[in-house]
Amino acid sequence: MEKSIYQLPLKVLDRHIFYRRSQYWNVEKLRIYQNEHLKRLIRYAAKHVPYYHKMFRDIGFEADKFRGIEDMDKIPLLDKETVRTRKGELLSDEANNRNIIWDSTSGSTGTPLHFALNDHVQANKIAALLRSFFWAGYRLRQRTLMVQSYYFENTEFQSDKFYNVIRFDSNRLSKDSAMRLAEEIIRKPVKTIIGFSFDILMIARFAEEAGKQFPSPESIITYGEKLSVERRKMLIDYYDCPIFDFYSMHECSAMISQCEKGSLHLIEDFAYMEIVDDGGKPTLGKGMLVGTNYYNYMMPLIRYNTRDAVQLSKVECTCGRAFRRVDEIFGKECDAIWTSDGRILGAVMSHSVDQAKGVIMSQCVQDATDHLLVRIIVDESYDNKSQEVLEVGLRKRIGSEMKLDFEIVMQLEKTAGGKAPFIISKIVNPEL
Ligand SMILES: [Zn+2]
Repeated sequence: MEKSIYQLPLKVLDRHIFYRRSQYWNVEKLRIYQNEHLKRLIRYAAKHVPYYHKMFRDIGFEADKFRGIEDMDKIPLLDKETVRTRKGELLSDEANNRNIIWDSTSGSTGTPLHFALNDHVQANKIAALLRSFFWAGYRLRQRTLMVQSYYFENTEFQSDKFYNVIRFDSNRLSKDSAMRLAEEIIRKPVKTIIGFSFDILMIARFAEEAGKQFPSPESIITYGEKLSVERRKMLIDYYDCPIFDFYSMHECSAMISQCEKGSLHLIEDFAYMEIVDDGGKPTLGKGMLVGTNYYNYMMPLIRYNTRDAVQLSKVECTCGRAFRRVDEIFGKECDAIWTSDGRILGAVMSHSVDQAKGVIMSQCVQDATDHLLVRIIVDESYDNKSQEVLEVGLRKRIGSEMKLDFEIVMQLEKTAGGKAPFIISKIVNPEL
């Protein structure tokens, strides 16, 4: 049967009505919901997902006896590497080309990953995301500036009259484009700005240098990379409005957003999130964020390790929601690449290696103003075609002027903190 184009919007509306209510559930009601959905998902996975069917049998885990949250730590964590190498086994035996959507992500990590979901998961994601944006003062069709990667052909920004949105292409961020955008926003101010924090900050700085002052919006919603305390302060300095941070991932395993009171909440009616120590055991302090989306039956990712760390808060929020709070999300802010044609690419570089087959990890190092070195760790399925795909993804962002070299390595360059960031800039730039 042909799918109606109204199907997804209707599902989103249905989930929107749900999420409007569920945000004010008390702890007891929330726990009942979480336990029921986890039980249902885990029993389904035991029956229909080869990876879990086999793994549960191997470790002697009885899905029928699983009680919910209290039994979660009997299931081993799932890491990105397993999803990358065994995605076929993680697919439900009921999945087929008609009922799943393939998605891919490398986020800002440089590790490409493919996974499946369906429109029910997408509807949940959109509805939960919109609710988070509503917490931050966003309203549908309220004049908004969106700053992210669009790949416009001939322009740096476009106005969408229907949604009342100006979309700025962060691939074209430069002094000139920021100034032209500022002129447009001064002419007709926006109420909300949504997008990459680095780009939103640089727009204001560039505009100011060019003698243009951005009118303050009512709020800014940032996503796509870690928002540090310093960057948040700088954004407040430039824009003089509250900043709301939003954390989510393509895999839909976790979501964190700031409420009206400014607290970061785990979005617990969207995914079940755990904070675990190095041994995979739940901790009440700082630990790794592990998540299980309730709604993805096509490729259930159970106890998926996001590799991002958070600090659980001990204080309850006064907003009336029972969702647990975190004090901080740890991670590194994106470094940026300065192209030789004067553009500056930060979080926009995320996802540039999504489609490359056989790439386990990658890292872009700008070692000269006109040169980018791409280090990659590969497996046996990597071939010339993979390199072409990589090159296309990167060229789309950096343009044609910079020289691009690939180097297959066994290990990536690490920072003092032991992390191997996706972007490393070795050139000194007066702007930062
Ligand atoms: Zn709150």
